[in-house]
Parts: sequence; structure tokens; C-alpha cells
Amino acid sequence: MSRPQTPAPAARLNGVKGMNDVLPPNSAAVEALEARVRRLMARYAYRNIRTPIVEHTQLFTRGLGEVTDIVEKEMYTFEDRLNGDSLTLRPECTAGVVRAVVEHAMLYDGGKRLYYIGPMFRHERPQRGRYRQFDQVGAEALGFGGAEVDAELILLAVALWQDLGLSDLRLEINSLGQPAERLQHRRALIEYLEQHAELLDEDARRRLHSNPLRILDTKNPALQPVVAAAPRLLDFLGQDSLSHFNALRSILDANAVAYSVNPRLVRGMDYYNLTVFEFVTDRLGAQGTVCAGGRYDYLIEQLGGKPAPAVGWALGVDRLLELLKDQGQERLDMAPDAYAVVADKNAMPQVLQQLQALRALGVSVQMQASVDGVMASLKSQFKRADASGARFALVFGADELSRQSVTIKPLRDGSGAQISHAWADIATWGPTLQSPT
Ligand code: ATP
Ligand code: MG
Repeated sequence: MSRPQTPAPAARLNGVKGMNDVLPPNSAAVEALEARVRRLMARYAYRNIRTPIVEHTQLFTRGLGEVTDIVEKEMYTFEDRLNGDSLTLRPECTAGVVRAVVEHAMLYDGGKRLYYIGPMFRHERPQRGRYRQFDQVGAEALGFGGAEVDAELILLAVALWQDLGLSDLRLEINSLGQPAERLQHRRALIEYLEQHAELLDEDARRRLHSNPLRILDTKNPALQPVVAAAPRLLDFLGQDSLSHFNALRSILDANAVAYSVNPRLVRGMDYYNLTVFEFVTDRLGAQGTVCAGGRYDYLIEQLGGKPAPAVGWALGVDRLLELLKDQGQERLDMAPDAYAVVADKNAMPQVLQQLQALRALGVSVQMQASVDGVMASLKSQFKRADASGARFALVFGADELSRQSVTIKPLRDGSGAQISHAWADIATWGPTLQSPT
């Protein structure tokens, strides 16, 4: 048999559905967001933890609860081909963090404040704001039982929204109380839902006796009226649970954090107790929850650790970026401080020396480069400078070059007046080009 003379073109390979490539310029927005997150975490003394993407499946079935969306239908689970262990791509990171904290006895000398940034995997129907691989930022405070740490975590999230210039995130809070209180509420809830069984959907009927609280979290609009009139968990809370809730509220009030109490707010995982909260926006359609969390005082024990309380939240980076985009903010984050406009290619050796000096001073600079050996006209260079989003153009025109100076031309409102500086004084004027952060 002879081989064909011209091989057929290879079929194109595409990425996996629901898993996205992040390309420039979007990748710059992600990096800028991550940089802001890291800076803010440092300000609140939260330290980075990096756990593996793959964990034993049991960690999630035990940690998240068998009757949850994630465990029932969203996990990417496979067998280790050598020893047959069941492994799962992490659908969330709290369980992994707790596993690591227990495994390394991290709480031996007191509580720990931790944060992570990284990809999570859930087999969901891909749509706007809902993907099969998505990034989360999470903050977890382990070994702390007081409501002041619930408040600290909420204040940290609010500081992030402020830092990003986001104003439309609503905070909703609720208390899930303690297991005994939930049990009493559960009885009342089942009784109520049984009376309205004909109005329930299949999912709800299946969960009626296994996990009725989760029915309150339904996304089915047809169920909203039934759910709205259901017995409220808040009405079943005892004194201790109420005082924890009130302590949180008074700290939020004292710090002028606006919130509403949503008695129907329950979270998707079984591990929560006492405080739960969500930051929600109306601007992203159905996928409006940007950040969610709460207290999980029993999870550490449930995963084999010495009993210790904990609280945390996770935010969806993809949804947050969409919100920034929706508010026209994503470009600012990735714009350089300055854009160098250069009249003469032959001056590049000196020009690059100045740009290097500025970068060493912490100024981010994008340089106009030649195309096919020629510099574009100054007019078209200024257009580029403007499109880059930079706050200043650094003009190295013929005049400036002959005088060993540079003209700083403001490109945005409120950036001041045009002014020329000598290269020799760069250490003085250079730092003024840095964006205020
Ligand atoms: P939802 O109710 O939207 O399914 P969830 O309760 O499953 O969210 P959590 O497990 O609490 O979400 O995750 C925290 C945050 O992570 C969510 O508020 C959301 O911003 C983000 N997130 C969750 N699932 C996805 C996904 N499939 N794609 C993108 N972001 C997601
Ligand atoms: Mg979900």
C-alpha cells in the first residue's frame, strides 16, 4: 500500500466545552485583579495557601454532603489508573484547605487566616457566568469562633469592591443556627412542604426527606411562592445563635456596611452553620452571586481534625471580571502609566535608557516600536497612546531629543498640565507618573 502524496490537513482541536482560554487583553485584567487581591489580603494579614487541584473523592463527599448539587452531579471524578483510588478535580477549595490544615496540624498554635486563588471544576451547563473550569478567590479564617471574624471577612470583601470601584454589590446575610435548631426547623419545614407536595418539582420531591433545607435554595422560579411562605429558620434560633448574629450585625452597622437579612438564604454546601452571606448583583442576569460564604464550625472535626470553628468565603473571579467589564472598568486596570511616543528610531538607545530608569522607579511604560524599520507618524503614535489607556504620553520629539528632555502630556482628565523635564532629573519627576493605588 502506498501512502497518499499530500496528507489530509490535520483536524483542528478545540478546548473542552465550558473551559476557556484567557487571552490578552483579558488576561491582563485577571492579573491586575489578582494583584489587588494579594495586596488586600496582606493588609488584612491573610496568607496564601496552595493546595492540589486533585483530591480524594471522599474529601468532597464527606465534606460537602452527599445530597448537594456538587456531589450529586457536578464533580469530575476519575480512577487513578494504578491503584484504582477515586480522585476528583476540586469543585471548591474549602474542603482542601481544611484537609491541609488538619494534615499539617496548622492550628496547634492558634487560629490561621488563609487565602487562595485558583481554578475549580464543576460539570455544569455552561452559560454566562457559569463555566466548567472557573477561578475562585477564597478567604478562610480557621480556629476563630467569634462573630468579629465573620465581620472581618465581610469587611475584607467590601474593601475589595471599594478598591475595584464596584458599588452595586448587595450584601445579604442570614443565620443557619446550630444543628439542633436546624433539626426542629427541618421537622416544621418537611411538614409544610408535604402539605404542598403537588407544587414541588422533581428535584424538590426527591430532597424533601433527605435535605429539605436545600429546597429553599431552588433556582426554579415556579417554586418561589411555596418557598417564600415556608417556615423561617431564623424563628427557630436559640439565644446563643441569635446573639452571634446580632454581634455580627452590630459590627457591620458600626462600620457602615449596608446589608439585608434574607431569611431564605441557605448555601449550596452542608457544612455551614450560624452566619451565611452572599454578595449579589442584578447586573449579571441569573448568575448574580459574586461572592458567598459563611461559618463552618463542624467541618474540621468532620474531616478528622480536633474540633475548631472556622469561617470563610469564595468569590467567582469570572463573574467579578464580567461585572468590572459591565461597568467599563476593566481597561483602567491593565493600562500602563505611560506610553512613549518616539520621533526618531535612531534615538532608541537613549530613549530606552530613560524608559528603563522609569520602570526601575515603578512606573509602567509601554513603548512605541517601529514597524518594518519605520516609526509611525507622531499623530498615529498619539492615537496608539490614547488607545492604550495610559494616563500620560511621554513625548520624545525632535526638540526633546536635541535637548535631552521629555514632554509629559496628560491623556486623561485630571492628570494635570503638559510639562517638560530633563532626563537628568528623572529620579525627581519619574515617580509622579505612577498611578495612585
Ligand atoms: P451558584 O448558586 O451560582 O451555582 P454556588 O452556590 O454553587 O453558586 P459557591 O460554591 O458558593 O457557588 O461558589 C462561590 C462563588 O463561585 C459563586 O458565588 C460564584 O461567583 C462562583 N461560581 C460557582 N460556580 C461557578 C461556575 N460554574 N462558574 C463560574 N463561577 C462559579
Ligand atoms: Mg452551583
